Amino acid sequence: MDKTVGVLGGGQLGRMLAEAANLLEIKVIFLESGNLSPAKQVSNQYDHIDGSFKDPEAVKSLAAKSDVVTIEIEHVNTDILEEISKTGTDVQPHWRTIRTIQDKYAQKELLQNHGVATAQSLPLATASVQDLEKASAALGLPLMLKSRKEAYDGRGNFPVKTKDDFKAALDALGSNKEVYAEKWANFRIELAVMVVKTKDQVLSFPTVETIHENSICKLTYTPARGVSKTIDKQAQDLAKKAVACFEGKGVFGVEMFLLEDDTLLINEIAPRPHNSGHYTIEACPVSQYEAHLRAILDLPLLAKDLELREPAIMLNILGGDSEDSHKNFARQALKQRRTKVHLYGKGKARKGRKMGHITVTAPTMSEAEEIIQPMIDYVDKDKP
Ligand code: ATP
Ligand code: MG
Ligand code: MG
Repeated sequence: MDKTVGVLGGGQLGRMLAEAANLLEIKVIFLESGNLSPAKQVSNQYDHIDGSFKDPEAVKSLAAKSDVVTIEIEHVNTDILEEISKTGTDVQPHWRTIRTIQDKYAQKELLQNHGVATAQSLPLATASVQDLEKASAALGLPLMLKSRKEAYDGRGNFPVKTKDDFKAALDALGSNKEVYAEKWANFRIELAVMVVKTKDQVLSFPTVETIHENSICKLTYTPARGVSKTIDKQAQDLAKKAVACFEGKGVFGVEMFLLEDDTLLINEIAPRPHNSGHYTIEACPVSQYEAHLRAILDLPLLAKDLELREPAIMLNILGGDSEDSHKNFARQALKQRRTKVHLYGKGKARKGRKMGHITVTAPTMSEAEEIIQPMIDYVDKDKP
């Protein structure tokens, strides 16, 4: 607990990490531009670094002040992480893990090589109609065209339904970008599992059902509804097997598709705390944020710490049409019982941006569903 943790990035995941660290008097410093990022607002330290998490000099300054360096975003410069770890900084998870995972195709290739089932994927030699033709001949249509790097919240995905979409898809993702094609997954539902890799164990939180709208996570339900105990366990086992393929310690978010025939496929892995694990703050003895700190600092962590206390539903608060839409939502949510409101301190809302979330926990899932329904209706009221 006496070590200083340096974090690349300082958004909402960093903010919730700092909140967990504060309870244990673990010093966390952030590398992020400005002094008022969501994470820095809740962490009063003199030695935060003002800069870009892609800037080598800034990363070196962070490393010089930290015992362990970690990330809250995977789109970082891994050359510099490699360099600082070779000169003695403890980087968690391992820089090679971050490098592989930040390229969504390389990530899938590694998993396939370890016998972990993922959606079938083919890299395009060039981002051209001709190469997309070839991929669609192999994978069939529809398919999902994806950017290999810098993707989040569905930016970097383009559903290709017919050949007429080829050009639009390539234009949308940028013709000079590296892209790959993924076989369309006709999933029944999407699942996610937060996995914790410690120095000698791979543990998992419960299986979560995730609901995405326009490729952005909207809701999570824990335990996953309509999923048998067997599948719930299979999902946790698959997630643990996937994370065990990667070096280093920390929390990983594993997103999965459950197909109509109950086959589970990995969609993607995040090497850090994840949106689908926010519910753990209220619903589990140890949250994903605290679990990440315990893992990277070699503090005790038991499987029992990750069990669900009571059913939980999380609803993301996305920016709406007005700059204070998230505050209006929060005012409504405060009227609800058993509802925890989290706002991230991002200032004015931008449409579609993650501004906060709410978590409802209750003794039964149906009670939690009943409580949260008015808030789902509230966010759906402006839907076209
Ligand atoms: P995140 O914010 O989770 O990092 P991302 O931008 O990396 O998102 P993906 O996780 O690849 O995007 O995809 C976002 C969503 O798009 C998925 O959760 C799923 O709903 C849908 N999707 C992605 N790949 C496929 C696929 N192969 N077939 C069908 N739907 C898909
Ligand atoms: Mg992603
Ligand atoms: Mg995703």
